[in-house]
Amino acid sequence: MKALRFYGKNDYRLEEIEKPSISQDEILLKVKAAAVCGSDIRMIQNGYAGVTKETPRTYGHEIAGIIEAVGEQVTGYHIGMSVAVAPNMGCGICDECVAGNTHLCREYKAFGINMDGGFAEYVVIPAEAVRQGNVVPVDMSGAMTFEKAAIIEPLSCVFNGFEKAGIKPCDTVLIIGAGPIGILHGMLAKMAGASKVMITDLNEQRLNMCKKAEPEFLTYAGDNLKEFVMEQTEGKGVQVCITACPSAKAQSDSLELLAMNGRVNFFGGLPAGSAKAEIDTNLVHYRQLILTGSARSSLTQYRKCLKLVQSGILDVSPVISDLYSLEQYEEAFAAAKTGSNLKNIFVF
Ligand SMILES: [Zn+2]
Ligand SMILES: [Zn+2]
Repeated sequence: MKALRFYGKNDYRLEEIEKPSISQDEILLKVKAAAVCGSDIRMIQNGYAGVTKETPRTYGHEIAGIIEAVGEQVTGYHIGMSVAVAPNMGCGICDECVAGNTHLCREYKAFGINMDGGFAEYVVIPAEAVRQGNVVPVDMSGAMTFEKAAIIEPLSCVFNGFEKAGIKPCDTVLIIGAGPIGILHGMLAKMAGASKVMITDLNEQRLNMCKKAEPEFLTYAGDNLKEFVMEQTEGKGVQVCITACPSAKAQSDSLELLAMNGRVNFFGGLPAGSAKAEIDTNLVHYRQLILTGSARSSLTQYRKCLKLVQSGILDVSPVISDLYSLEQYEEAFAAAKTGSNLKNIFVF
């Protein structure tokens, strides 16, 4: 089978490797769509733990496909089933796992991160992922596509941040960062009944794409964000701010943009070793602010997001910008690196 193999920092190539076989308690997935994530680009540029010349890995954690083979001990799944696959799995027995937070398990593993993922024709779904419910059937009738199913993963991470920030009807919402993640945040906010969704980015091209994808969003590219936010909120500030960018300054500045009882979700992490964000705790104190963080997503959140997309409540197609064959990997990664478009997806 064809697989994109990563050997370390900026060292990767498309190879023909043996099609994997499965044991009794595993599933073999024929990949139909695998989306490129910002974290893939970081792993390509910086390398990743355990990925070496001797121990290459296949990246790709945003995956959907068709079940090709099922081990004889596996129940509930059959050959030919269309599925979306949540990437995170836990040990299954720690307190976080038992609470449903397998994505927060200390022994956390994920497709395309610390085991082989979806930038290949086939992926082995190991027993723990089968048992934990990572493989979710997708009804492909109607407007559903494998590309949309692959987007469920980033959407579920966004949904985690959305739940933490607690966006409610009539809330005013500001999203800092107009990439696909920022746009998905805006879509969920709109779905929840936000009265205004504002979105800002330093990159004007990104804002134009965002405006095209979601014309209802109020976009801002200037250098006086506070003035813009206060103008839009009668001087009160926003109820919710989401920082969908790797910027300590955005995190610090966000507090000043919040209204009384405002909530912020630090969605984007900061690069390792970068300066820490300064937090004005008096703002937190006097305005009763709530600061939240979120990382990855639970299987429950993943399944909810699949329902939202499959039912048509949420149309994620505006963020799907370009489709590629696996052979066009340089093109796909270059587009993802420059941020010149939205979601880049390999299709098979
Ligand atoms: Zn991702
Ligand atoms: Zn665990």
